[in-house]
Amino acid sequence: QLSERLETVASFIHPAVTFADIGSDHAYLPCYAVKKGIVTRAIAGEVVEGPFQSAKRQVASEGLSGHIDVRKGSGLEVLEPGEVECITIAGMGGPLISSILADGVEKLPGVKKLVLQPNIAAHSVRSWLDENGWAIEDEAILEEDGQLYEVISAVYGSNRKLTEKEIYFGPILIKRQNHAFRLKWQREFEQINYVLRQLSDARDSEGTARKKKELMQKQQWIKDVINSEN
Ligand code: SAM
Repeated sequence: QLSERLETVASFIHPAVTFADIGSDHAYLPCYAVKKGIVTRAIAGEVVEGPFQSAKRQVASEGLSGHIDVRKGSGLEVLEPGEVECITIAGMGGPLISSILADGVEKLPGVKKLVLQPNIAAHSVRSWLDENGWAIEDEAILEEDGQLYEVISAVYGSNRKLTEKEIYFGPILIKRQNHAFRLKWQREFEQINYVLRQLSDARDSEGTARKKKELMQKQQWIKDVINSEN
């Protein structure tokens, strides 16, 4: 049984029929996508020996070695240019996802779709996409086991510039505002309160004053967005 989080990532792969899952761990996502007939071929990339071995074992035990290639290496270095139509990167922090993409840009020509699931700081992923010619075509936010997860699907070819608010909240998520979205931003608001309390105990400096102003601005955005009736 695949997690709802990874099922959501899988649901965005179509219409691509080949994909690479970078940081695949047990290769659950490639196995699922092949078994469901979403794709015909997949590559599972993994940099750490333990998870790489787990991925190989999982693929072999499901009898999928003819469809899924498990490769060891960091980020996009496991790929040849033009090998896959889609790349998925899930379960990592937003800044790590962005740096994997930035370090592997020479592997991106020919890739039509990126499906990214940052565990934290999704804004850094959106901002990388926006600056590098990728358009966010769909997004999802879901709650699973008390955690909130965002999934971002992007297609290549865009000069669109997202606003700061769209980067922060997600251009599609901000329009839809489902239950998980509201929950996420209520939690974020509380988290900012906590940080602001810590900062008010800290010694005043130009740095803390700037940080406070920035956080209060974020809280104002959250209030505006959550209270607006879309
Ligand atoms: N993608 C799976 C998921 O969403 O359930 C696994 C997520 S797991 C938390 C992150 C995996 O990414 C780990 O197995 C880790 O070894 C791998 N990883 C981290 N940095 C990587 C990199 N630069 N290249 C390839 N794999 C990486």
